[in-house]
Amino acid sequence: MEQPYRILLYYCYTPIKDPAAFRVQHHQYCADLGLRGRIIIAGEGINGTVSGLAAACETYMQHLKADSRFSKVDFKVDQYPQYAFQKLNIRIKPEIVHADLPHINPNERTGPYISPQELERIQAEEDVVLLDVRSNYEHQIGRFKNAITLDINHFREFKAQIPQLAPYKDKKIITYCTGGIKCEKASAYLLEQGFQNVYQLHGGIIKYGNEVGGEAFEGKCYVFDNRLIKDINKASSTVVGTCHVCQEPCDRMVNCANPACNEHVPLCTSCAESLEGACSETCQKHPDKRAYNGTGYYTKKLNGYNPYHGVSMPEKGKAKKI
Ligand SMILES: [Zn+2]
Ligand SMILES: [Zn+2]
Repeated sequence: MEQPYRILLYYCYTPIKDPAAFRVQHHQYCADLGLRGRIIIAGEGINGTVSGLAAACETYMQHLKADSRFSKVDFKVDQYPQYAFQKLNIRIKPEIVHADLPHINPNERTGPYISPQELERIQAEEDVVLLDVRSNYEHQIGRFKNAITLDINHFREFKAQIPQLAPYKDKKIITYCTGGIKCEKASAYLLEQGFQNVYQLHGGIIKYGNEVGGEAFEGKCYVFDNRLIKDINKASSTVVGTCHVCQEPCDRMVNCANPACNEHVPLCTSCAESLEGACSETCQKHPDKRAYNGTGYYTKKLNGYNPYHGVSMPEKGKAKKI
């Protein structure tokens, strides 16, 4: 059944000369379209995940693609019954994904793309190694079969993992992440470090799920919107995650009900019920603990939310339109 909303996931490495001016203009444009989500802008490009009504998202995609700077942007599009974000948040940062690799420019050199269809064809070949460049909380709930995972809590720790990847130096390494953005730098960095045979999964797990949905992926994909997780494998549903509390197989994610903790953890239905949505007994006893409604996702009160908040020079009277 066709859903009224869309969730877009996209990035583009492209020089943006005046990120501050672009940010204001872009924020105004997104707010006018009624989009909500998170966008990061840097001198090296744009990284976003937004949601809005189908027509608004379509207009946005056409608008961005029509700008020559973003002509090669690739949108991953999902349907959803409602907004997948509460607010619009557009920030300027030094890198569009924090890698601590500001000197790496994927437009100069990066791993060649492997399409989802090509991955499906070659993933079982003997010299192919799939490298998951995501963090623990992400690959613990789902990953490609036989993938190498890294014990990292943030992508900026990736570069310190190079020595332990030495055994795979002669293999055909295909890096992958959620939507492809981390791989642009991860594959480029591997090439810089002397790995010769490095490729990247174009569009990441999300594009693979949307276009192939094959059995090469086990478990669920962690996503950065209200869904928390997304189904990828349409053929079977192996559970690879384990409940944070009882260690039983579990592929549901919750936000700990203690706002001071707020960790995203796999928590089974029965543990979540007995701990009232908290990740531990300590968190359950926290005085600010939020009421658990069974979803494990908490919405903030949006009283007086103004989507133009953050546009530095809003036109007078704009806020009244809302
Ligand atoms: Zn449990
Ligand atoms: Zn907690």
